[in-house]
Amino acid sequence: MQKSNPISEQLIAPCGMNCAICSRYLAYINKLKRSQCVGCRSKHERCTYLFNKCTGVNNTSQDNAVFCFECGEYPCKQINRMDDRYRKNYMMSVKSNLDCIKKRGIDKFIDEQYKKYRCSKCGELISIHNRKCFQCDIITRLVEIHNKEF
Ligand SMILES: [Zn+2]
Repeated sequence: MQKSNPISEQLIAPCGMNCAICSRYLAYINKLKRSQCVGCRSKHERCTYLFNKCTGVNNTSQDNAVFCFECGEYPCKQINRMDDRYRKNYMMSVKSNLDCIKKRGIDKFIDEQYKKYRCSKCGELISIHNRKCFQCDIITRLVEIHNKEF
């Protein structure tokens, strides 16, 4: 049975992070840990990693209504640092994500994210941080995620 894509536009943070594959968000929706994280945009808070130091558009926009690429300061020091960290630790680039959103649109991006990060066994999303499916309790190898073709 084909599951519908659980990733909504609201779950794509201004920095290009897909909150739907964040372990804190997945813990929250799977009610496994005492995580209260509903995703960066839904929290209507400043991003903990970037926007505390942001001097650009997401500093002035209360709801983080825009993507970082819409900012005159993009790519700033903060997003470069986050991008380095995610590329190194999780083989994911928020700047590539933003690039995809800018060039091909949010719908296409969301579609590809779902194909890339769904569990091959059950179709639920896996965490980018530990590559774990909360339903099956299995861990997908990084290389499997990045060798997916679609
Ligand atoms: Zn699974």
